[in-house]
Amino acid sequence: MINSLFVSDVLERLRKVLPSGDGLYALHAPHFSGNEWRYVKECLDTGWVSSAGSFVNRLEQELASYTGIKHAVAVVNGSAALHAALLLSGVEAGDEVLIPSLTFIATANAVSYCGAVPHLADSSEHTLGLDPVKLEQYLKETADLRGGFCYNRNTGKRIKAIVPMHTLGHPVDLEPLAEICAHYRLEMIEDAAESLGSLYKGRHTGSWGSLAAISLNGNKIITAGGGGAILTNNEKLARQARHITTTAKLPHRWKFVHDQTGYNYRLPNLNAALAVAQLEQLPEMLNRKRALASAYEEAFRQAKGIRFFHEPSFASSNYWLNALLLDESHAIHLEALLEQTNQTDIMTRPLWTPLHQLPMLEHCPRMDLSTAESLARRIINIPSSAFLLEPDGREA
Ligand SMILES: *Cc1c(COP(=O)(O)O)cnc(C)c1O
Repeated sequence: MINSLFVSDVLERLRKVLPSGDGLYALHAPHFSGNEWRYVKECLDTGWVSSAGSFVNRLEQELASYTGIKHAVAVVNGSAALHAALLLSGVEAGDEVLIPSLTFIATANAVSYCGAVPHLADSSEHTLGLDPVKLEQYLKETADLRGGFCYNRNTGKRIKAIVPMHTLGHPVDLEPLAEICAHYRLEMIEDAAESLGSLYKGRHTGSWGSLAAISLNGNKIITAGGGGAILTNNEKLARQARHITTTAKLPHRWKFVHDQTGYNYRLPNLNAALAVAQLEQLPEMLNRKRALASAYEEAFRQAKGIRFFHEPSFASSNYWLNALLLDESHAIHLEALLEQTNQTDIMTRPLWTPLHQLPMLEHCPRMDLSTAESLARRIINIPSSAFLLEPDGREA
């Protein structure tokens, strides 16, 4: 089994794109070849390292202008962005929030931080994100509308919101989800942590929900070291987002008066400086990542039992993490593939364990999750750094 013809064939195809060299092909390495040193040094030289400082405001403005979403509020990480966005959407303790079972744990954690309950939904093989057709059918059977709110018939709890996530940077099918939200009076908060630079029908992901969260963690397409942002087109929500992420302090020259429980979620200037420099290079990174994705796609075009996951037809993806998708008949080879690649210089990882298989979430309400389970058994993520093929990152 370990040296099956299938596994050797996959390795050979990977080698066409990743020839043996001196180093490791990491899954996703950050890359600093722009103004990072200069901007971070500027923070140190001027003493503005913490949550006040010009780079935080500059990052917010530049994220807004890059995404075309009116307001960005910079925070300490993507999890905090999601948490604040859920609170601002009116999610309260005891509510249920629909999220995909196939997502990074942070999506569920943010719901739990609100005292709310993750309600787990299935994914589509076409997008790797929420399946709107299956969700609509499920809600027809499970949800009641009463007094302008949506209730789960089985638990009696209010279903307040839905959090679509753009898996590995590939946009989920947002339009039918937006229709479901309108019908069932659900707030939509996009978990766009992985999809900075990805477009759905020509518009940046994060602009369909009333609020969205992005992450600037070290493994994301660009990084602040650690960081994130809340995005919204709604000025009032943006103002509230800024308020609750800065301890809900009322502006005053010296008095400390706070009008609600707030959070110390503001991004430090040091991190913002790094992010501003990274954002300047995002267009180039996107070009390089698309080129890498094409090379993989070409290498796996004729492969049997496995294919390269291509962006959905309605989307332009940032190809944050490249993925190979095994046929159901070849899922048994996943372990051997992970084993064989990680033994060499090719770093690979499986997708996440579906959330309903984790101990603290196994009792959450949920629909049939067979596609999520199947995808989790069949996806392998392969080296995806923007500068993977040119380690020094400089143009010749
Ligand atoms: C990375 C990520 C987050 C959280 O971002 P952090 O900055 O690590 O807190 C949330 N959701 C998804 C899907 C992610 O991949």
